[in-house]
Amino acid sequence: MNNISHAYIFLGAEDETTKEALKLAQIANCKNSQMSPCGFCNSCRKIQNDVHPDVVHVYPEGASIKIEQVRQLILDLAEKPVEGNKKLYILHQAHTMTPQAQNALLKTLEEPLTESIIVLLSSNLKQLIPTVISRCQIRDFSQEVKPLISINTRQSIANLLLHIVHSKKISELGALVTQLSETDEKAEEILEFIISLYRDVLVAKTNSSVAFINGDLESIIYKFAAQLTLNAILLSIEVASEQLKATKSRGNQNLIWYNLLMGLEEVV
Ligand SMILES: [Zn+2]
Repeated sequence: MNNISHAYIFLGAEDETTKEALKLAQIANCKNSQMSPCGFCNSCRKIQNDVHPDVVHVYPEGASIKIEQVRQLILDLAEKPVEGNKKLYILHQAHTMTPQAQNALLKTLEEPLTESIIVLLSSNLKQLIPTVISRCQIRDFSQEVKPLISINTRQSIANLLLHIVHSKKISELGALVTQLSETDEKAEEILEFIISLYRDVLVAKTNSSVAFINGDLESIIYKFAAQLTLNAILLSIEVASEQLKATKSRGNQNLIWYNLLMGLEEVV
């Protein structure tokens, strides 16, 4: 009970993460502290049947969770739990939150909540803003993700990026751009990999109890984590995500690699 944080991101499919969020609500509110969640006390059963007044679901209205919904949630937070110890707010498809909604939520995440827990359910960490991510504890319930790119390619790209982190100033930018553009895989796949790599570095840095996506690159991941601040890691994810977006609208791959490397150099 004391280990419960005030804000979480549960990564994975909607069904699975909803189930886990309800389990968390049971743990936080179970009447039998010895064996929580017991599954049979009044509180556990109400949560199981989804009729507990202190479990609040927030769903996207239309395509997104809007700032008005988050404002309502913040107003709600000021109220005490109706019958439990903790109120649990479950934001479904949290990645659909508009940037305004995420920024509104951010202020709440910065202040410790004593009687509430916010759980963001999402299958897509990339659409959440880094400052929101950094204030939540991440739990990964997604199926094991298999990297698309071969270990050799991933290793050489990881080493190339680590080189930037170590040297802080790129002297042979042109050569690195060439190296990236000569990789056989599609730019999108490489960028997806780079994002997953920095996501693993984030996991290492925050000592999260989450498995690495690139478990075979563990030793490199820890080298990154030792060199980069939390903020630099989050900014690196942002830089790579921006270039991933650019691959969809822009044809020039060299420009993408150039911008990526310059961006990554800037944040270290
Ligand atoms: Zn119980």
